[in-house]
Order: sequence, then structure tokens, then C-alpha cells
Amino acid sequence: MAANSELSDVFAHIDTERESFIQRLVDYVRHPSISAHNIGIKEVADILIDMLGKLGADARLVPTAGHPMVVARWLEAKGAPTVLLYGHYDVQPPDPLELWISPPFEPTIRDGRIFARGVADNKGQHLAQILAIESLLKVRGRLPCNVILLLEGEEEVGSPHVADFVREHRDLLKADFAVTADGPLPPSGRPTVKLGSRGVITFDLVVKHANRDVHSGNFGGVVPNPLWTLVHLLATMKNDRGEITIDGLHDAVAAPTAAELLAAARLPLDLEGVKRSLGLSRLDAPPERDYYERLCFRPTLTINGLHGGYGGPGSKTVLPHEAIAKCDIRLVARQDAADILRKVEAHVAKHAPEVKVVSHGPGMQPSKTPITSKHLAPIRQAMLAAQGVEPLIFPAGFGSLPGYAFTDILGIDAFVTPYGNADEPNHAPNENLKIDCFFNGIRTGAALLDELGRAKLG
Ligand SMILES: [Zn+2]
Repeated sequence: MAANSELSDVFAHIDTERESFIQRLVDYVRHPSISAHNIGIKEVADILIDMLGKLGADARLVPTAGHPMVVARWLEAKGAPTVLLYGHYDVQPPDPLELWISPPFEPTIRDGRIFARGVADNKGQHLAQILAIESLLKVRGRLPCNVILLLEGEEEVGSPHVADFVREHRDLLKADFAVTADGPLPPSGRPTVKLGSRGVITFDLVVKHANRDVHSGNFGGVVPNPLWTLVHLLATMKNDRGEITIDGLHDAVAAPTAAELLAAARLPLDLEGVKRSLGLSRLDAPPERDYYERLCFRPTLTINGLHGGYGGPGSKTVLPHEAIAKCDIRLVARQDAADILRKVEAHVAKHAPEVKVVSHGPGMQPSKTPITSKHLAPIRQAMLAAQGVEPLIFPAGFGSLPGYAFTDILGIDAFVTPYGNADEPNHAPNENLKIDCFFNGIRTGAALLDELGRAKLG
């Protein structure tokens, strides 16, 4: 562990409070806040407002067209930068309940981990940021920089209102850059910084020919088969060389810079280990494409499911009358979710006009922070001070988070710094957070604010 003398008082406080901080997290995750089912949202938002008010913040619950935003601001560090910390207080539904070893809302400690729904995604991660703030206030009496904490209640249902909220409350959120602590660390547990995230759209391709299923002998070759219609359409959307062939899909893709490619090449990779753990004999086409290039810089088209006709035991010589393909497209920097959906619709209209494209909503935009951002240095320094290890720098995150609200609407750099263990099973049964990861998060959060205090403006 790096001995950072400047922070030893704060780190000592965090060590002293170890048991009480664990208890605070246990108490917090005991409260369900399931956005998809509107369970416990208001209660947990009120708990947060109370907790943040006691820390001297200007804390308010701001309504949206959906669940409210929790906003807490500490803006008394004159001349120091302002960091916007984003997280979400809603959690995924806990189903299937029978697969949980201990009940999802009765937090249980086993093997150095706390098991509960939402403990890693995202309550333990933003509570770590809050406890970092609390520790600095306790030890130093004030915060070294300005902090705005934004906690959303709808991240697990796709953050449908974050863009409008940010657009309408620019003044409340005026910051130099944004940091999101969410998601898992890589398997090595090395501290990690991600410069943005991929976007996503989801849609169904639906086709119906006859008005009922028919006999494949009496009608096969006469009645068109909707599954074949979808198979032919899908074959025009991606070829066997792994190239997505939807017209215009790649038009806006920003080519990675030399520095981004270098950062991706520096990331550790155990390709044989990945293949072994997944039981794979090969990667998706094209075989020569670099592993991280696939995940950071390339869009994907995934068939999530292809449904229709008979799937039961034995055979059934039926000709189905309808079929559906559920799909998602992950987007990379400079692609626009609405534009890509329009391109999918145009492609389908051209190649299979009988097929309907049913969108599941606006999706999420990609976001990108330049690798040359001046705010990367204090984040790296903080990780070094708190964990004694240089962080891994990912030119982009692979999944989808609402960072575009900061990069594209507020126009500030946004970083993702996950605190969760690689095997946190978020969204799945037995979600857990390693207690060590929780404390690394608290220390890192404190170190970041301390670093920013040193970087006084002017
Ligand atoms: Zn999640």
C-alpha cells in the first residue's frame, strides 16, 4: 500500500471506522429500491437526502418525469475545481429468488464479501464516495474541492430521463468533469479508469405471413415462412467475415487515435484464459481483430434471440405464421442512437419490407472522453495514493452508462472508475461486493478529492 503522508490522517480515520462503515452499507442495502417495479424508490431517496443533509450538503430531491434525482452539493472550496460524482440508487429486481444463498434484502457477510441486491450495483460504490466525503469532513473539517453528487433512480431501467434532467438543470450541475463509480473491475482487481462507454439500441424484427400455423406438407412451398424471411434479412445485416452490413452504420464511427490504440494495446490480456473460461475454441470473426479494439472501438450487432414455430421435444412438421428476432446494437463514439435506428429501419425497408422494426425506446448514446484529458492525471494520482497501483486506462468502457449526459450535454469530460469486484454478479442472484473493494473505493474517493484540492485553479 502506498504510504501517502498527506492523506494518512484520512486513511487512518477510514481504518478506524471500518466496522461502522460496513454496518452503514449493510443498513443501506437492506432497503429495496427496485425501479422496474417502483418498489422502495421514495424511501431510499429520502434516506439519501437525510444522510447527505447531515454532511452539510445542499441536498435536494429533484422530480423528473420518472423517479426523482438526488442532488447534493458542497461548493465552499473557493478557487478549487468541481467534480460531479454520478451513481444510481435504484437496483435490479432480485429474481429468481430461489437461486439466492441468502435473501437479497437481508445483507449477509461471507468470505469477506457482502451479499445483497444492489450492494455492488450501485449502492456500495456511491456509498463509498459518500463515506469518502464524510471522512474528509470529519478529519479536515471541510472538503478540499467542490463536489456535486448526482444519484439517479432509473439507471436500471435505461436512464430514460437523465438527458432531459441534465439539460434542464445545467446550473445545478456546473462542474469541471464527471466521475462515475460503477461496474466491475477487471479480474486482476487493478484500479481502472474508463474514458466513456458504448451506447446501445434494442429492437425487435417482427414478421407475420399467414394468419395461422399450417401443415408443412400441405402448405410448404406455398405459404412463405417467416423464419426464413428473418434468416435472409439477418444475413444481409452481418456477413460471415464479422462485418456489419447495415447500410451507413459505420458512417459516423470515429476512428481511434494513435494514443487510444496504444492504451488499448497496453491493457493486459489472457486470451487463452478468456477462451478457457467460456469454453470457446475461437473468437467471433474476424479472427485477426485485436481483442480490445473489438470492445472499445467497434459497434456490434447481436441477435439476442430468434423465436418462432415449434421448439419442443421430437419433431412437429409445422409451418409457423410469425417470427421475431430480438436484437441490440452497441454503439461507439460519434454514432447517434436515433440515426442508427433510422438506418436499421431503412435497411429493413429495402431488404425485407414485410418485416416490422419495433424499437424499445431511444436507447443510450455512446460517450467519449479524450485520452488527452487533463483530468486523467488527478484520477491516476488518486488511485496510486489510495491503492498503491497504477490504474489501467481503458479508452472506452464496453457496456452502456449515461455518461453522454455529461460529455455531450454538459460538455465536460466523464470518467468511469469501477470499485466492484470482477465477480460481483450484478443483475444476477448472489450479487456481492468484496469488503476490500468497498474500502479501496472509500480511500480512492477521498484521495481524488484531495488531489483536486491541490490542483487549485489559477
Ligand atoms: Zn446495473
